[in-house]
Amino acid sequence: MNVQQQFRRLPSIDALLANMPEEVARWGHTQLVEALRQQLDQLREAIAAGISADISSESIRQSALETLAARSRATLIPVFNLTGTVLHTNLGRANLPPEAIEAIGTVAAGASNLEFDLASGKRGDRESHVESLICEITGAEAATAVNNNAAAVLLVLNTLALGRTVPVSRGELVEIGGSFRIPEVMSRSGCSLVEVGATNRTHLDDYRHAIDNTTALLMKVHTSNYEIQGFTASVAEPDLAVLANEHDLPFVIDLGSGNLADFKALGLPDEPTVAQALANGADLVTFSGDKLLGGPQAGIVAGRADLIAAIKRNPLKRALRLDKMTLAALAEVLTLYRDPEQLVRKLPTLRLLTRRASDIQAQAKSLLPDIARALAPKFQVSVEDCLSQIGSGSLPVDTLPSAAIRIAPESGDDSDVRKLAQRLRELPVPVIGRIHKGALWLDLRCLEPEQQTGFADQLADLTL
Ligand SMILES: *Cc1c(COP(=O)(O)O)cnc(C)c1O
Repeated sequence: MNVQQQFRRLPSIDALLANMPEEVARWGHTQLVEALRQQLDQLREAIAAGISADISSESIRQSALETLAARSRATLIPVFNLTGTVLHTNLGRANLPPEAIEAIGTVAAGASNLEFDLASGKRGDRESHVESLICEITGAEAATAVNNNAAAVLLVLNTLALGRTVPVSRGELVEIGGSFRIPEVMSRSGCSLVEVGATNRTHLDDYRHAIDNTTALLMKVHTSNYEIQGFTASVAEPDLAVLANEHDLPFVIDLGSGNLADFKALGLPDEPTVAQALANGADLVTFSGDKLLGGPQAGIVAGRADLIAAIKRNPLKRALRLDKMTLAALAEVLTLYRDPEQLVRKLPTLRLLTRRASDIQAQAKSLLPDIARALAPKFQVSVEDCLSQIGSGSLPVDTLPSAAIRIAPESGDDSDVRKLAQRLRELPVPVIGRIHKGALWLDLRCLEPEQQTGFADQLADLTL
């Protein structure tokens, strides 16, 4: 058969569609015709290139439907975070509690009093739904909330330091995850950084000497993802607050992780709270909503009422403001902080951070047979002690004892570990672990007990 004859044997779109009433109803005429046309185009190309292809109507329909199904699958999907990093920026940081998820659904579905004061019938303030909660929990006079902490820092500097200078310690010129760097955020917010002190040591006099008539404020940045050890010195917050006060300058602390809970009492590595930063004399504190606070992505500025009022008047504020779904979720999460006895049980971030190593180990042991069965005989599987990280704004040196399933290839070949990691990422709910010393480690800290069955069941689908 020559090429022309083969082209003529290809079915028409109409002929293909005639047998597909259910598929037309499911995908709609437009999408289905487009997918069938694509299949026919591909077949024509194959025929022209002399490649043999299945041109039966059944095969064309099948391929078109597969393409449609693949294309309509969501790309943003749940995964199992078994990296051992509780607040993993690449995996979406904090898991929200059911109260917050429900509130998101409710405001998303219909009209709400987002910016409408029900008492007066007049225009309201969207931040009224969270501001008083933030003040109640942190002791701040006033607060505002924006898209994330990067936005909070940008907005504070742009409002209070535009065209002026801000001294920051050389030991605190932080980079967070590549795209947020204090010096770059400062220049984009329109102020000039004045570096003070040395990388390892900064003294109060360094700040004092940097202050002149261009200085807008004093700022301290929490070094959330590194620690300088050895011969070090930094200026305590109360001392900087006094110095700022002497010069009538606002004192701003970028706290990064917005911890609102007493970590020591929870048996966690000590982490400064927003309330402490304010009590230490900060006029403004900026922090994230989706780090230790355990809420949705947001940035919060809390502190002096006159400064917050100025920030709210900044035209940039509108560009950085929160949407109704985030505000609804944030309000619910903040509400949980009113009940400290239930907080750890109800707030996923604190619940995961405080899981006991012995519980995680018991969970690992109960899962071990299922995992061993799915991976035998190519892989050796064992339960091992490991260390989880808090992630996103807590020192990487602060780790939490945990337990992992360690999966090592019988071959001892690193490429087998990488292949296994890839297969796990291809599961319906991808499993993300950590490769360490020739093995794949699945830290079970973030596998909540009720997820365990779903996790184990899909391992049966694993093809190695
Ligand atoms: C995480 C962090 C930021 C950025 O916060 P996002 O909410 O991720 O925008 C800024 N400053 C510090 C000190 C941080 O730890």
